Amino acid sequence: MGDIVAFLKINRKEAGCRPILERINDFGEVEQTLSVEDRMMQASRCMDCGVPFCHWSCPLGNLIPEWQDLLYKNKWQEAYNLLNFTNNFPEFTGRICPSFCEKSCILNLENQPLTIRENEAAITEYAFSNGYVVPKLPLYHVGKKVAVIGSGPAGLTVASVLNQKGYSITVYEKDECIGGLLRLGIPDFKLNKEIVERRVSILKIEGIKFETNVEVGKDITIEKILFEYDAICLALGAVTPRDLLIDGRELVGIHFALDFLKQQNRIVGGKIINSSDRISANGKNVLIIGGGDTGSDCVGTSIRQKAKKVTQIEILSMPSENISIETYWPAYPNMLKTSSSHEEGCERRWSLKSKKFIGDGGRVVAVEVVEVEWLKDEFGSFIMKETNKKEIIPAELVLLSMGFIQPDSKKLLNNLVTMRNVKENMYKVFYAGDVVNGSSLVVHAINSGNEVAKSISDFLK
Ligand SMILES: Cc1cc2nc3c(=O)[nH]c(=O)nc-3n(C[C@H](O)[C@H](O)[C@H](O)COP(=O)(O)OP(=O)(O)OC[C@H]3O[C@@H](n4cnc5c(N)ncnc54)[C@H](O)[C@@H]3O)c2cc1C
Repeated sequence: MGDIVAFLKINRKEAGCRPILERINDFGEVEQTLSVEDRMMQASRCMDCGVPFCHWSCPLGNLIPEWQDLLYKNKWQEAYNLLNFTNNFPEFTGRICPSFCEKSCILNLENQPLTIRENEAAITEYAFSNGYVVPKLPLYHVGKKVAVIGSGPAGLTVASVLNQKGYSITVYEKDECIGGLLRLGIPDFKLNKEIVERRVSILKIEGIKFETNVEVGKDITIEKILFEYDAICLALGAVTPRDLLIDGRELVGIHFALDFLKQQNRIVGGKIINSSDRISANGKNVLIIGGGDTGSDCVGTSIRQKAKKVTQIEILSMPSENISIETYWPAYPNMLKTSSSHEEGCERRWSLKSKKFIGDGGRVVAVEVVEVEWLKDEFGSFIMKETNKKEIIPAELVLLSMGFIQPDSKKLLNNLVTMRNVKENMYKVFYAGDVVNGSSLVVHAINSGNEVAKSISDFLK
């Protein structure tokens, strides 16, 4: 601990975002950075608590007080090494992690938690720009092959860890680019894709083979993979969206959120999309159904596409603007979240159930919604009751963002189920990331990737 009273003298200082009127005209990252001196001062605020709840709440077990101390002491390389010891890809989590650590920081009891996530991003960018992050070639090869199917953060973690242990790794990816939702899902304004590509380039130099545009179960059979490899890891993600099967669902102009977001990421990446396939918010009233984080990404994307008006609705009631009594420190609080996208100009509404899509000439023009009340039954469980307050919300583009229910590689997974009796092959199959846990977070995918890499390595030994 560098300065034992720094937390009494120095306030939390966030780098903040670029001005709204500037950032909504491009897809560049919204978050700014502090100066090196300010960043070190922010690190000095860490109290090096006897029980570091930040460390406890981080799914990766990041050694947070220790690298704050190194950062404060201007030891950036050592800080990066310690951060990277538990976190394979801090350049991703440093940008987009919801930071359980900050919520459980003891300074959060005064609403002044340490800027842990921003410090993580700053250490990592400093490390990249000063040449501390270089490809590390495996020291030896053990002569065994592992196939990783899916190149999201879980698959990349498994591939990276096992490659360093000397296994020959091939990553199969059905899309044209590597990164899973990091690359084709999370908008560029939260995570610039050069950051993903920078990491992928390192992994390639380290010897990992990537096969893109190859869908396992379609372009190559799972039987062939099982025959050729000593172990396989399925890191397929879980992106089958929840649908909203109400009247008018067939109308043109109703899309799943991820289709909209993926297309925009591809456009930012330089891909030309046919006008007939283009999902555009330009000049339209956009209604986003679903009040979560993916919906918030649709808000920011619609605003950048110059929508006329953006509305986001949620069936649940509005969360409290204060920490709820049910989840209080050091747990992650259940409270209203306002993202940088929301700040850019969107109407947010709660307790609204969508009843039907209204069309004109085959295209959606509005959605009928009804207000609902959330009551409790005799056992204390919530029950939803429709009121008689109906409303029509104009919408020429509707984005369905109501969560994800399962992996989308049904054929591949079904094949595996039917092969279950082939015991010696099934022993070779491992699963990592969202395909196991359901739609979750990058930090959980990295954690799962580490655990599964260890299991595969133990198995192959
Ligand atoms: C819009 C959006 C925004 C998000 N924002 C955040 C955020 O800000 N912070 C955060 O922490 N988390 C965020 N998440 C969640 C996070 O992106 C995921 O939890 C994480 O990417 C899961 O990693 P994964 O490796 O398990 O799966 P994925 O990232 O989904 O990767 C799975 C990969 O497997 C490939 N694949 C699937 N089937 C096959 C097959 N048969 N053959 C070959 N390849 C296949 C897919 O194409 C995909 O590339 C967001 C999610 C979405 C949808």
